[in-house]
Amino acid sequence: TYIVTDNCIKCKYTDCVEVCPVDCFYEGENMLVIHPDECIDCGVCEPECPAEAIKPDTEPGLENWLEINTRYAALW
Ligand code: SF4
Repeated sequence: TYIVTDNCIKCKYTDCVEVCPVDCFYEGENMLVIHPDECIDCGVCEPECPAEAIKPDTEPGLENWLEINTRYAALW
């Protein structure tokens, strides 16, 4: 899955939301999040993010961001 990380906080762009083929972006508290169970790992959103906030969860050190994406996406 892909996840949204700290660079998204207070970012006002929604380019990622527009390109996601499965609409798996959701509003978090002050950033967008990706629902990890809905993301199909297509990677389309990653280069579209002007803040470079979207990362694959296979990148080391992002465990807490995966948890945050999971938690806020589950509220919807
Ligand atoms: Fe949506 Fe694809 Fe990005 Fe996953 S990787 S959030 S499916 S655009």
